[in-house]
Amino acid sequence: MTEVLYHWIGGGPVAGTSERTAPVHDPALGVVSKQVRLGSAADVDTAVGAAKEAFATWGRTSIARRSQVVFAFRELLNARKDELAQILTSEHGKVLSDAGGEIARGLEVVEFACAMPQLTKGAYSLGVSTDVDVYSIKEPLGVVGIITPFNFPAMVPLWFAPIAIACGNTVVLKPSEKDPSSANWLAALWAEAGLPAGVLNVVHGDKEAVDALLTHDDVASISFVGSTPIARYVYETGTAHGKRVQALGGAKNHMLVLPDADLDLVADSAVNAGFGSAGERCMAISVVVAVDPVGDDLVDKIRDRMGKLVVGDGRRSCDMGPLITREHRDKVAGYLDVAATDGAEVVVDGREVEIDGAAEGFWLGPTLIDKVPTTSTVYTDEIFGPVLSVVRVASYDEGVALINGGPYGNGTAIFTNDGGAARQFMLDVEVGMVGVNVPIPVPVAYHSFGGWKASLFGDAKAYGPHGVDFFTREKAITSRWLDPSHGGINLGFPQNQ
Ligand code: NAD
Repeated sequence: MTEVLYHWIGGGPVAGTSERTAPVHDPALGVVSKQVRLGSAADVDTAVGAAKEAFATWGRTSIARRSQVVFAFRELLNARKDELAQILTSEHGKVLSDAGGEIARGLEVVEFACAMPQLTKGAYSLGVSTDVDVYSIKEPLGVVGIITPFNFPAMVPLWFAPIAIACGNTVVLKPSEKDPSSANWLAALWAEAGLPAGVLNVVHGDKEAVDALLTHDDVASISFVGSTPIARYVYETGTAHGKRVQALGGAKNHMLVLPDADLDLVADSAVNAGFGSAGERCMAISVVVAVDPVGDDLVDKIRDRMGKLVVGDGRRSCDMGPLITREHRDKVAGYLDVAATDGAEVVVDGREVEIDGAAEGFWLGPTLIDKVPTTSTVYTDEIFGPVLSVVRVASYDEGVALINGGPYGNGTAIFTNDGGAARQFMLDVEVGMVGVNVPIPVPVAYHSFGGWKASLFGDAKAYGPHGVDFFTREKAITSRWLDPSHGGINLGFPQNQ
């Protein structure tokens, strides 16, 4: 009998009303490892009900007690992160060291959330008028929905849930149905850390569960991460239903290489950022923009490094694992045909890779495509696989125009030894996260993560100060403790005196 993964509602596993399921694969073995329940609107309603009930207490629990739970969760997660890494690798396919990196970045946000007493301190203005004080406080929103993608099954839930919880909200998490187990593992760990039942609930599912969350009257906000078309849909539907929404979408990240750059550093960075996690990262570099005349040398250096990468089962110390599903693998591989048709030069064809793993796994090796026309879908689509494109440009200005001309604005990087050029790039580029000689500029937890344009709908980025603002609403209180004298009747607009 194949194991069936249940939802986690009100403090424990719940089968739910819907018997629909989806297969979960071990992508390195190419086999179905379990089935996951796909929740119905009724299941979402049950979870929201549990969260609403828990909010009545959790929202009023002291910030000291809430922080103690987050601290305890941090200790448990740190102690048991290897267990989580095994789950991530077995369902996502990323290699174990990369799974460890994902958890480390999630832990950073947990640590940030431990400081919530400091982060949610209000402001107080004494004596704004005679005997009048004004103060502002941050209150939790209530029940918040979190909907996450397959590519960071632990880190992305950890971008949101610890901050939401520390701020006093209660959560319904709808993780990706492709690699759902880490969500239940994290929910159980929160329970072990002392989080009361109902504060964090997990409903597995697909569009049906997402739609139920987006339209539920008792859900105050939605935090979404996924592809751009769904992010746009989530933003439009959620806001139309009166919710606060932050919806992070897809990306096509460019690395601009100026002629004075250290080409060995550039080649290392392009390989790391292009092929880490098999390119299934929203901050992966997918286009190298080489300013003349460095293109030929750079392509040679990247190709040499690619030859040394070991592709295989992430549990075997390989550099790169498989893709998430067979369909996704085939879709990504299809761009090699497109490249040939569109007149690009396939330098390394990932379909020919040798694998350290099971033949049935969803494999595609690192792929390098040079001289990609910017009209080709190899350039315009977010491929989300181990495919690195090279585009040649004649100047810095042409490179920046190319980057700014695209629909996305998630991450980008410039490689140069010229500080003035780097500074100019930082100002010129219309992208939310910028690296200077850093290929994957994911901000640390006390800054905020998010792109521009079609990479983020809404005005709040994830975690950091934006995260705290998103998961709280501010109340300003104007208070007067009367001295025994009265001001008398005055119908005029209040003025400070
Ligand atoms: P996806 O958009 O297919 O799925 C994301 C979530 O939406 C999942 O929980 C899924 O169940 C749900 N969903 C899917 N189809 C839906 C529909 N029609 N209606 C309602 N909900 C639906 O994304 P994915 O394939 O899981 O993840 C990869 C994508 O996520 C890439 O585009 C990547 O760039 C993006 N991503 C962005 C960031 C960022 O921070 N900007 C981070 C990670 C991933």
